[in-house]
Amino acid sequence: MNKTDLRFWFGCGMMISMEFAILGSGSSANSCFFKGENGAFVIDCGFTLPQWEARMKCIGESPASVKYILITHHHADHVRGLERISAKYGIPSYVASDSPLKTLYERREFRPLREFDVDGVRFFPFPTFHDAAPSVGFFFLLDGVRFTIITDTGVLDERMFRAALKSDVLLLESNYCEELLESCCYPEFLKRRISSVYGHLSNRAAFDFLSRLREQPQCRLRQVYLCHLSEKSNTPERVEMLFSSLKDESFSITVCPKNQLIKGFCDDTIRKANSECFSCSNR
Ligand SMILES: [Zn+2]
Ligand SMILES: [Zn+2]
Repeated sequence: MNKTDLRFWFGCGMMISMEFAILGSGSSANSCFFKGENGAFVIDCGFTLPQWEARMKCIGESPASVKYILITHHHADHVRGLERISAKYGIPSYVASDSPLKTLYERREFRPLREFDVDGVRFFPFPTFHDAAPSVGFFFLLDGVRFTIITDTGVLDERMFRAALKSDVLLLESNYCEELLESCCYPEFLKRRISSVYGHLSNRAAFDFLSRLREQPQCRLRQVYLCHLSEKSNTPERVEMLFSSLKDESFSITVCPKNQLIKGFCDDTIRKANSECFSCSNR
């Protein structure tokens, strides 16, 4: 963790317990922490063990509090630290049933498109379009707040749209700027891979998705975190500028610079709005 990360984090205020934190995102490492009434869990472990421990310490949380880890897919930027972290702290991992990840501390499986519950949190994993099948995003309900996380996908589909539409909080990939990708130093094959249907999501595609969501009268989104920004073919400033027109008083958009810790929170308004019965049907 560099000084910028620490300054940003401590600049946010006290290290208090919070509902969730993006421990870091980007092309090199991704991990998100969520904490509910029944304990904490993590989605993806792309940081090494020492890096991950340092970030957990920075948010004032003990790694021992993490009860399980969910994995979206087996690319290194999502699983680099998984074996050592899960072994050291005895944390079981949930992976898609066809995943090639085999040497985990305790492997538990889920099937894409089938809901599952863990300690009172209901998850719905849905396929993403990525060159690391099986690759998924998650919709889940945590203490009355609905989250959708969509990263590492070349395109977005209607299933993702419906999940995001029902969510209060959306973590969405905004990986590359088309112009910068075209002109950056990446080799041609990598540019083609990133921009393919099974690659990553462009700023423009993420923007169109979010614009369409905002046009729906039933859209309940309150917070959006734009993450997994490419180091070479994107900048936080470009993302900020593109999405600024979508923000308003009741709708926040946070751009997540590479590797930076971002604290999330859910206020009482979101909790109350979500105290109704929850059903995963018709998704
Ligand atoms: Zn990936
Ligand atoms: Zn990734």
